[in-house]
Amino acid sequence: MQLQLSIIIPAYNEEGNIKRINESINKNLKNINYEVIYVNDGSVDKTEIELNKLYKLDKKHVKVITFSRNFGKDAAIYAGLEQSCGKYSAIIDADMQQDPKYLISMYNFLEKNNEYDQVAMTIKRRKNISFFKIIGGTLFYKVINLLSKTEFKQNASDFRMFRQNVKEAILSLKEVNRFSKGITSWIGFNTKYMEYDVHSRYSGKTKFNFKKSFDYAIDGITDYSDIPLKIASFVGIVFSIAGFIFLIYAIIKSIIIGNIYNKFMILISTVLLIGGIQLICIGIIGKYLYKSFIETKKRPIYIVKKKQV
Ligand code: UDP
Ligand code: MG
Repeated sequence: MQLQLSIIIPAYNEEGNIKRINESINKNLKNINYEVIYVNDGSVDKTEIELNKLYKLDKKHVKVITFSRNFGKDAAIYAGLEQSCGKYSAIIDADMQQDPKYLISMYNFLEKNNEYDQVAMTIKRRKNISFFKIIGGTLFYKVINLLSKTEFKQNASDFRMFRQNVKEAILSLKEVNRFSKGITSWIGFNTKYMEYDVHSRYSGKTKFNFKKSFDYAIDGITDYSDIPLKIASFVGIVFSIAGFIFLIYAIIKSIIIGNIYNKFMILISTVLLIGGIQLICIGIIGKYLYKSFIETKKRPIYIVKKKQV
């Protein structure tokens, strides 16, 4: 019988959740021919042991890929997709915030609606999400949609299911700086959005603290927009013109009045301001340069330590 569904679960330090989510998937997907591909993203807790236990108990459904270190959730998704062979592929977090019962709704929808290529779940109620994630998330979507030509759907998550054409498109983007929110928007396809209620994490802590989320947002913006570079050039032009006018003014004044030394403070603050702006612009350029430096190395997206498939 053809494999209907491949479920990919990226897991980084999720020892307390593995058993729980596996039970829930078994219960919900009784009538479907599926496989679950756990990608252990360099966990340092007992995730590997928990996954080993699952694999030994249920080799028919469970596959495990273990990375040599932490490569990030997006790399884990890539590895899972490469391994998957179901008619549909789904991505779901390991922590039970995304209830596996929705996999059935997505599956049924794709079975009935041939014109759609994927179903993406969007967050309905945000009661179990921290204040900073709500504010940060809203701000992130505002900024990225302002700056990028790719459209980013607010509240969309990685929780989704798609056909093989979408899977192949995702796999064809081989960049190391993987920003899945961008990738799934950039590739296009006909997407049905469905809402879901986010639960609280079953066990453990979020891996995306303030710093990691902030870095992730900056990465996303610089991956999908060149407007920061344009802003840097624009600010440079404005300040060059202002500096030139100021210089002419100072020369004329020094000829007329004969002494410009009392303008010393203005001069110093202007130099500091322009110097600061220059450094910011160099920083922005540096960010893009570093990213292309990483891409030109063409390193693999992830490294596998062990594969149980
Ligand atoms: N994750 C991962 N690698 C990482 C960070 C997270 O595989 O470097 C996995 C994590 O185990 C979980 C999912 O990505 O299954 C979402 O992470 P988390 O729940 O911490 O994020 P949040 O739901 O708080 O945004
Ligand atoms: Mg979570």
